[in-house]
Amino acid sequence: MNSNTKIESELNKREIRPTAMRMIVLRYFLEEKNCTSLTELEEKFDHADKSTLFRTLTTFEQKGLIHRIEDGTGFTKFGLCTEDCDCSFDFQHYHFHCINCNETFCLKSLKPQSLNLPKGFMVQSANLVLKGHCSNCN
Ligand SMILES: [Zn+2]
Ligand SMILES: [Zn+2]
Ligand SMILES: [Zn+2]
Repeated sequence: MNSNTKIESELNKREIRPTAMRMIVLRYFLEEKNCTSLTELEEKFDHADKSTLFRTLTTFEQKGLIHRIEDGTGFTKFGLCTEDCDCSFDFQHYHFHCINCNETFCLKSLKPQSLNLPKGFMVQSANLVLKGHCSNCN
């Protein structure tokens, strides 16, 4: 269980003012789901104002607390960044989308290693999504 102080300091580190809603959403990322979508958040916090939830995710993404994942489901997922993440290509990792339970996971230790690109090509971003069955479904 993360104390409010810890959650507050996580937000402060990324220069995000710790409002009640931001703290609730970050706690959800830290304790329940590392990857989630706006729709899931809306269902989970159905009493919350939808535009506030949307703005919370936008702020988190702009400040580098979470990153966007396009897993091919049509719903944009957001995953929690590591502490030192600057969301550049060096920090990008594979994601795994389970076709059975529909969950998406950040595989933070799985990175595109030595990409041997042809001369003159430079990667800035990548859509790294593996699909299959997750450990809960296997
Ligand atoms: Zn990041
Ligand atoms: Zn699964
Ligand atoms: Zn991720």
